[in-house]
Amino acid sequence: MAEARAKSRKPRRSSKASKRSKSSRSAKPSKSSRSAKPAKPAKTKRAAESAKRAKSARSARSAKSAKSRQPPKTASAAKPPKARSPKSAKTAAPPAPAIAVKAHEPQPLPLSLTAKSPFEMRVHLGDGVPETDVQSALDSGDMGFLHSFTTGSTVDGPGVRVVAWTTGCGWRCRYCHNPDTWTMRNGYPISVAKAAEELGKYRHGLKVMAGGFTISGGEPLMQHRFVVKLLTAAKKMGIHTTIESNGFFGERLSDADLEQIDLVMLGLKTWGKERHEELTGRDIEPTLAFARRLAARKRKIWVRFVLVPNLTDDIDEIGKIAEFAAGLGNVERVEVLPFHQMGRYKWHELGIRYHLEKTEPPTTESVDRALQVFRSAGLEAY
Ligand code: SF4
Repeated sequence: MAEARAKSRKPRRSSKASKRSKSSRSAKPSKSSRSAKPAKPAKTKRAAESAKRAKSARSARSAKSAKSRQPPKTASAAKPPKARSPKSAKTAAPPAPAIAVKAHEPQPLPLSLTAKSPFEMRVHLGDGVPETDVQSALDSGDMGFLHSFTTGSTVDGPGVRVVAWTTGCGWRCRYCHNPDTWTMRNGYPISVAKAAEELGKYRHGLKVMAGGFTISGGEPLMQHRFVVKLLTAAKKMGIHTTIESNGFFGERLSDADLEQIDLVMLGLKTWGKERHEELTGRDIEPTLAFARRLAARKRKIWVRFVLVPNLTDDIDEIGKIAEFAAGLGNVERVEVLPFHQMGRYKWHELGIRYHLEKTEPPTTESVDRALQVFRSAGLEAY
């Protein structure tokens, strides 16, 4: 279809072009007639040369300023792209690639890579990257896909954090507030070197504020090689490192990789195989296995638990999560995160059915009850 449209447009363009060229031929003779005006030939050869130089300088300046006004080649990221519904994405011809990035090729950062908040909606930033480049990037880890960088976070690990939000997640949590991060190609393709350079700008401030660098998502371990390389770069700068993960791909990390991660913020969503599959679409077991492995290797964990009325607020289930977490011996703290609706508009814009349309945030009493369950198991809970 796209090819047929392109073919049918071609003859029209060429006939217009030929009309234009005819009319321009007939309407434009004034150049020679202008030069024939009696007033102008009075120019000396020197004056003519200087005018020529001035003209070429003017055109160079105007080309430069036009270039600077234009978005850079990669600036589809700077312009918030329009969200398309998955339906239209299926039927419409793929858009002309706005980004053509080859793996291992450092690209300029889009102005908007640093977002004010991860709640900014971002889609299709990596559409122009060929599939082979995506695959080689995932294999080598030299390039990854980021939704954004945010700075100054005080809720994504100890101290003040710079956070890189990756794209790509195979889970479908009903309460997810960043469904635009599910698709890897929604993220901006960036080399490890460039991402590390961006992080390096904050290295001194992060140390002063006893903070660090967190990689969240999406699910960071979808791009585990890129993530490990970036964390390794952070460690070399002396920066504290954290990942926030659902743990499903924990087995992808070698023991040496784990050494690059100072803290894992592990999402424990609910308890029980069926309940977990209903809530996330995936099996809970790989997450629990990762938690046990982290415990065996004495790597620190902060558990994150999202409290959603009528979905994850069953006290018995919370009790089982608490019992599991307390038994690990390496859980430094538990964070009970009250459900909110800040991501609801993303579900709407992406055209995905949202099951929690009418769900309210939990009451203070309900949050306190959950906290109490974790504390009763001997855990620090906030
Ligand atoms: S694991 Fe995280 S990013 Fe993935 S669907 Fe669940 S909440 Fe969303």
